[in-house]
Amino acid sequence: MKQIASDVVIVGGGIMGSSAALFLRQRGLSVTLLERDLIGQHASGTNFGNVRRQGRPLYQLPLANRASAIWRRAKELLDTDVEYIQGGHMRVCYRDRSEMVERMESYARDAKELGLELELLSAPAIHKRFPFLGPEVLAGSYSALDGHANPRLVSPAFARAAQRLGARIEENTRIILVEKVGEDFQVLSEAGTVYTAPNVLITTGAWGNELASQFRETAPLTSFGPNMSVTEPVPYCIKPSVGVFTTEEKETVYFRQIERGNVIIGGSTRAPGFPNTCRTHVRPQNTLSQLQQIRRLAPGLGQLRLIRVWSGTEGYLPDWQPIMGPSAVAAGLYYAFGFSGAGFQIGPGVGETMAELIASGQTSIDLEPYRPSRFSPEVG
Ligand SMILES: Cc1cc2nc3c(=O)[nH]c(=O)nc-3n(C[C@H](O)[C@H](O)[C@H](O)COP(=O)(O)OP(=O)(O)OC[C@H]3O[C@@H](n4cnc5c(N)ncnc54)[C@H](O)[C@@H]3O)c2cc1C
Repeated sequence: MKQIASDVVIVGGGIMGSSAALFLRQRGLSVTLLERDLIGQHASGTNFGNVRRQGRPLYQLPLANRASAIWRRAKELLDTDVEYIQGGHMRVCYRDRSEMVERMESYARDAKELGLELELLSAPAIHKRFPFLGPEVLAGSYSALDGHANPRLVSPAFARAAQRLGARIEENTRIILVEKVGEDFQVLSEAGTVYTAPNVLITTGAWGNELASQFRETAPLTSFGPNMSVTEPVPYCIKPSVGVFTTEEKETVYFRQIERGNVIIGGSTRAPGFPNTCRTHVRPQNTLSQLQQIRRLAPGLGQLRLIRVWSGTEGYLPDWQPIMGPSAVAAGLYYAFGFSGAGFQIGPGVGETMAELIASGQTSIDLEPYRPSRFSPEVG
């Protein structure tokens, strides 16, 4: 039986696994990254591309700030243009949800203490500066240092950068068993190869439970597919990524324009995911509801033709926070999965944090809100 040894085996090559691989190599550890399909094929490559800090829970901002610093130097770090545009992120609320204004104001005050500067805009200011927004928009909060990037490029770019530093990357390699044997883990692929390492990081997204449950650390993970669409290209004129702040799921529409001119639209109702078949399906009624909502937010966009719709499989936890940190039962085993629809922006920060934790035994990021055993107290 073929055996391959390294300091760390990472299972799952989305943005979490591929960025962790790079940061572990930068810390001098040998790394094997194993991906069932292709690097970045699932949530990390199919997402909307929002690189947004505002709107995240305040306790997540240190992680989001860490990620933001990496996004801003992504081009030189990865030696690839991942189409990161620091065009700002605009969060708006509607006239009939005026109670949201107060929430935006108090969020802006608290976020400032944590290093996120937000500019609050009244209705006249917002319509002057962003004339494409509809008359229902009442107020907004603008984050100048947020932006958006092309998800299809990001995880492969991290993996290539890790490979240049010596990481071993294997695609089309499904892991079926992780076992601790003495001091090391044995990680078995479907094809029969055994990868051994004293440390294993599980970054298998919506499929996190398949391996975590082998250690009785099953999380209440469910799977959904957010609804995405893209329009025909029109002259490039909208730099920020824009989204609605509301308590109504169907109103949560957002969009961004890319330099080629197409407008990418996301939000409104999600569809169920089918992790067993690695599929999500776009429901026509969700696309129609998204279009209705986009006409409220930016009426001009309602004139454009959609050229494609898609979705991707994402794992969600009941508190909308990931499982992230060391296993409670096996020393050397770590998890980072279940990013609940918001892992793209924090992805590089998660990779760097997990690399720091594995290499040094500690991290400056407070991982308590993401503790793997928080849903299974009998284990932790
Ligand atoms: C449509 C959509 C829109 C989104 N929009 C945004 C957004 O705008 N901003 C934002 O911040 N977040 C967004 N998200 C969320 C974000 O994309 C995810 O949280 C993030 O990409 C999760 O990364 P990951 O590496 O944990 O998971 P994934 O990218 O799913 O990677 C996990 C990998 O593990 C592999 N794997 C699974 N099981 C095994 C196994 N047994 N052996 C080997 N490999 C295995 C899978 O093949 C997969 O490639 C969106 C998600 C979706 C689906």
